[in-house]
Amino acid sequence: MGKFLEQRLRGLPVSPGIAIGSLRVEARDCSAPSIHPITEEELPGEWKRFEEALVRTERELVELKHRVEKVSGATEAAIFDAHLLFLRDSTIIGKLKNELPLRLQNIESVYYAVVQNFMEIMRAVDDPYLRSRVMDVRDVLQRVLRNMQSGDSVKRALPASELSCILAAYELTPGDTAELDRKNVLGFVTETGSAMSHTAILARSLGLPAVVAVPRLVMDSRTGSPAILDGYEGVLIINPTEETQEKYRILRDEREKAYRELVGMRELPAITVDGHRVHLAANVEFAHEFESIRRSGAEGVGLYRTEFFLLGTGNSMPDEEAQYEHYRKLVEECAPEEVIFRTLDAGGDKLPFEPSAEREDNPALGWRGIRVSLSRAEIFKQQLRAILRASACGKVGIMFPMVSGVTEVRRTLDLLDECRAELRGRGQTYDENMRVGVMIEVPSAAMMADVLARYVDFFSIGTNDLTQYTIAVDRVNHRVASIFRVTHPGVVRLMARTIETGLPTAICGEMGGDLNVLPLLVGLGATEISVGTHLLPVVRVAIRHLNYLECKAMAQQALQAEDSVTIRSLSRDVALKSYPELF
Ligand code: PEP
Ligand code: MG
Repeated sequence: MGKFLEQRLRGLPVSPGIAIGSLRVEARDCSAPSIHPITEEELPGEWKRFEEALVRTERELVELKHRVEKVSGATEAAIFDAHLLFLRDSTIIGKLKNELPLRLQNIESVYYAVVQNFMEIMRAVDDPYLRSRVMDVRDVLQRVLRNMQSGDSVKRALPASELSCILAAYELTPGDTAELDRKNVLGFVTETGSAMSHTAILARSLGLPAVVAVPRLVMDSRTGSPAILDGYEGVLIINPTEETQEKYRILRDEREKAYRELVGMRELPAITVDGHRVHLAANVEFAHEFESIRRSGAEGVGLYRTEFFLLGTGNSMPDEEAQYEHYRKLVEECAPEEVIFRTLDAGGDKLPFEPSAEREDNPALGWRGIRVSLSRAEIFKQQLRAILRASACGKVGIMFPMVSGVTEVRRTLDLLDECRAELRGRGQTYDENMRVGVMIEVPSAAMMADVLARYVDFFSIGTNDLTQYTIAVDRVNHRVASIFRVTHPGVVRLMARTIETGLPTAICGEMGGDLNVLPLLVGLGATEISVGTHLLPVVRVAIRHLNYLECKAMAQQALQAEDSVTIRSLSRDVALKSYPELF
């Protein structure tokens, strides 16, 4: 394509599919500037703005240095000498001078990309001292950006796209992802992120091809460049040749045809060759997915993540009546199958319950999930009543996120009873037999599963969080993504312990959609697998190729294994033997 060479950037594939279009680059992290094109005539003006910002920043840093010197002494103040040196660093400024006329974008976005790249290099060096200086560089970057925007607050909102595009961003929050204009965004690729992040989960439920953790993405991408995003292999191809484009058009058509064939088998039950039945349900996040539940052949909804409906609009939370109407619609859509509503799971890496709440040092261990709901009982009860009322319109289950032990369950069940009494007082009906469950995603809950089983009707294992908390690996941190192992023996043993209670146990984390580990889940005895609707047709066909007794024997071996690689390969061997054509 024209004068540019084809370039391939590799990352982690997190949502399958192929997008062919042109790139739109959003060079932001938590405080990055938005990008807009400029003309050549505007170049000198842009450069002047930058120089003025440097002067202002220099003044600020010198002042800071003097202040710190007075209070803490010269040693502490010396840090600002390093800031000042970096501010005028000739490599950065030289790079910016070269990049600006090439990119023809507002100077703050180019400066941002150049400095991000510099920080990446610093993070990769062996010297721990140099690595620890990254925060200083970041501080200078933010000062300069602030000074270039003359104190304006940095824009957070993603501008709506007018043309179809592949979105390339430093980072997308779950909120950004939920807001993406699905008509025009063909897929997205980010410099940060991991397969278990909510952003990746949302991409899958939106049916958008997505690739994350692409080094130097923002630096190497330019708005308007033709590109192909391969969500199967995790590759972004910039300026693809005509030949590459043709190859990908064919691949896309083939994949879509194979997928249509799988969907065509939606009436068939998920039953192994030796007659073991697994319930196959859908994970749902958005109202627009409701109609795809039936189309995928799901036997109801195993996990409705209510947080995007409750918090996703940015307006105030829907009241009981609005929630009831929304839940009822879903229940009626799925009748006679069951819909399991997970109550609000706010906080952590998800949408904040109160955006203005104080920052938490450890949000994953902080105010999230059931803890938020229990500390806002009146709001929680609105949701409980709305779900109870919806249970009168079809088959409904309810479950609670981030439960760590029995005290939270007791308190929650008391609130549920209060809600039942209130509805009876109002003369409103609900299903007396609505199933109540607990998500198992905190190790202590898995350890206490035999006790929790006395209080509830079912378990649903959230393998995303269970893995995060069991092996202490942040599910959204791309630096540790490669050691996020769902087959870690610690995780697998906790799953087995939960299932052994004999209570019906679903798997609703992303692990359920991984064909490599499906034999393990079936062999451990999970009674239900719940996955995104786009993955459901392939999981169904895979289960129909498995032999339950073989999976069970393999799972017993896995429980004796010492490491995650062994467990994964035990399961993968069965998978490859049973359904090689699905890989
Ligand atoms: C999980 O943790 O595995 C889960 C299903 O919940 P979420 O991904 O919404 O945290
Ligand atoms: Mg979870």
